[in-house]
Amino acid sequence: QCVNACPCGALDYRSEIGRVFRAINDPGKTTVAFVAPAVRSVVSSQYGISYQEASQFIAGLLKKMGFDKVFDFTFAADLTIVEETTEFLTRLQSQERIPQFTSCCPGWVNFVERRYPEIIPYLSSCKSPQMMMGATVKNHFTELSEIDPKDLYVVSIVPCIAKKYEAARPEFATDGIRDVDAVLTSTEMLEMADIKLIEPADVEPQDFCEPYKRVSGAGILFGASGGVAEAALRMAVEKLTGEAITDRLDYQEVRGLQGIKEAAVEAKGKKVNVAVISGLHNVEPILEKIIEGAEVGYDLIEVMACPGGCICGAGHPVPEKIDTLEKRQQVLVNIDQTSRYRKSQENPDILRLYDEYYGEANSPLAHKLLHTHYEAVKREPVAKHDRRMADSAFVT
Ligand code: SF4
Repeated sequence: QCVNACPCGALDYRSEIGRVFRAINDPGKTTVAFVAPAVRSVVSSQYGISYQEASQFIAGLLKKMGFDKVFDFTFAADLTIVEETTEFLTRLQSQERIPQFTSCCPGWVNFVERRYPEIIPYLSSCKSPQMMMGATVKNHFTELSEIDPKDLYVVSIVPCIAKKYEAARPEFATDGIRDVDAVLTSTEMLEMADIKLIEPADVEPQDFCEPYKRVSGAGILFGASGGVAEAALRMAVEKLTGEAITDRLDYQEVRGLQGIKEAAVEAKGKKVNVAVISGLHNVEPILEKIIEGAEVGYDLIEVMACPGGCICGAGHPVPEKIDTLEKRQQVLVNIDQTSRYRKSQENPDILRLYDEYYGEANSPLAHKLLHTHYEAVKREPVAKHDRRMADSAFVT
């Protein structure tokens, strides 16, 4: 009932701490954790450590908890950008199913399936970074390390409650083996550290594990609203111009906590208009225009259900101060600006993964493991005013 009541399917919350501890303590299982970009900002404030130390601290903390391998979810954000931007450029050329909506926020995807199924064709077919990472680890990593997928237990650590529901969707399993076995919120991860009585001084900072160790600053930006669009623009402009971009990497206009932001870029005479929306009620006027057949003037639209994006996810500890969200966002921007790689498409581990495994972006194997389809959730037809978030009790 809760699942049906929530407009984005995020009320199906259940703690998975017990299951994860059981897997860690099972000698027959290899346990893998991967950590979403936005978790860094919370760990940074929770333990009072700098943004430079946050990534290595998290890897050390999870190893201390007992995980065998700790991967960086940001790697999958880079993979998502390569897949999604390739799809976007194909659609842009043919002008079919434009605007393309991002699909990395399961709260947004659930909302479309439940309230605006007419928009389904406009969604990118890319899985979210969580599900791309799960599918890659369960297929590529098990092949590389000669582990039976049945013996690999994969735990995703995220700021998001909707991702628990997403990981449990029936389509996200291959031959009966789930892509992601359990999803912990960042709050649950901090609780596990408390249960194990781990103090910051006990944590030995370390790198994330191979073969998904290197990540780009663009992937880190996924943790806040505007990050997906900014990372996509860094790749789209390069592909459209055929030239490496070094001077215009920052798109300040899509950063920040406003509900609607816009950017326009010109590449080789081609103009690309982007909208960045956070908070579902802000996207509804655009959805209604598209359904009515009206022109909205955007080519790419990023939508995040949580106001401000994943830094405000319900799986994070509740922000204590007014400026907490700005600080969380700044952690991500700082990491991006000091990153060795600032474009997803130049991450050497991503390039190697395509060379050795997927072939190329949007290849048949990439489509099998990294893309999905969506279905309207059956419900009685509803009047326009009944389905709008803006007219419902969900908006505060
Ligand atoms: Fe989850 Fe919110 Fe991030 Fe969407 S914006 S992926 S619902 S935390």
